[in-house]
Amino acid sequence: MAREKVFDGADDDDESLPFRSSFDMNDHDYDEKLRPQRLCDVVGQKKVVDRLQIMIDAAKMRSEPLGHLLLDGPPGLGKTTFATVLPKELGTDCLITSGPLLAAPKDLLPHITNAGRGSVLFIDEIHRMSPAVEEFIYPVMEDFRVDITLGEGMNARTINMQVEPFTVIGATTRSGMLTAPLRDRFVNRLHVDYYEVEELAEILRRNAGKLKTTIDEDAANELAIRARGTPRVANNLLSWVRDFAMVKAKGRITVDVALKALTMQEVDHLGLEQLDRKYLETLVRIFGGGPAGLQSIGHSLNIPADTLEDEIEPFLLRLGLIQRTPRGRMITPTGLEHLGIAPPESPEQGRLF
Ligand code: ADP
Repeated sequence: MAREKVFDGADDDDESLPFRSSFDMNDHDYDEKLRPQRLCDVVGQKKVVDRLQIMIDAAKMRSEPLGHLLLDGPPGLGKTTFATVLPKELGTDCLITSGPLLAAPKDLLPHITNAGRGSVLFIDEIHRMSPAVEEFIYPVMEDFRVDITLGEGMNARTINMQVEPFTVIGATTRSGMLTAPLRDRFVNRLHVDYYEVEELAEILRRNAGKLKTTIDEDAANELAIRARGTPRVANNLLSWVRDFAMVKAKGRITVDVALKALTMQEVDHLGLEQLDRKYLETLVRIFGGGPAGLQSIGHSLNIPADTLEDEIEPFLLRLGLIQRTPRGRMITPTGLEHLGIAPPESPEQGRLF
């Protein structure tokens, strides 16, 4: 076999370097360390990057704030990354908040009054903002006008305040849950999609470099295959495999080390984790293969239905292991095969589990 190409962000004699375990950093630090800082550092998502570059260039040429932007797509695909890269490209400030933190207009007001001309206000999980905040944000997004109601009942009066024009960037995993008026206030809407294996392998190689860890090309590919099309999953696998390699293999991530680490973490050859398999097994053993309602599956697994819908099901659906029907979720023959259960030979036998 040809010698594997090594992607090495460290010095030549890095095997003797003291390796830093990811325990040195908390999850947030780890995420931030690996997050691309500029648009040119972003891997993949060519359509999104090209469109953003046009928006940025146009905003700069007109010396105007960027139009409000909505980013949607499953978790871990780079929405926050794009939202934080944009202000850097524009040379403006960025304020960050999140839908669940915005229960009443007073929670949003300081962000709006603090936003300078052309700056960015990033609202993550924007679909989880309360309806009162949503009503409040409409005139802000449209006319940069804040309507504040003082007093109650007969004595109530509204005062208006003008604020500096700025850009709202909203991110959502559930664009379907946004109301039409809110969605319409975003002049720019971009969808972030799953990544190809080669793109994830590239992210892994670059990030191994940033972490001063040595990863062989084959090992990066094996991790990429199991990363569920998602950079955040790729980064998490890298964190684990790096720790494993440090303890068991002097820090170098070869394909053999990577596969052993993945086996220990119970990540299978498709990238399914314990919870994914538990979902499939529950569907088969408790619900006879389905159809089963999302809430019922959630109760059986003791996991909120939202989490299942956002984080577990999209990948199982993509792999064709489950199916969503009007009557509920069903396991597919491929799903059964993955669990090592022979599919029924006829539809009549379909509910024999
Ligand atoms: P989201 O906001 O969609 O949940 P994030 O932007 O937080 O996802 O991405 C999670 C991590 O994945 C980031 O910290 C970053 O390291 C990595 N990542 C995401 N998208 C890319 C990309 N296009 N290129 C390189 N790394 C990426």
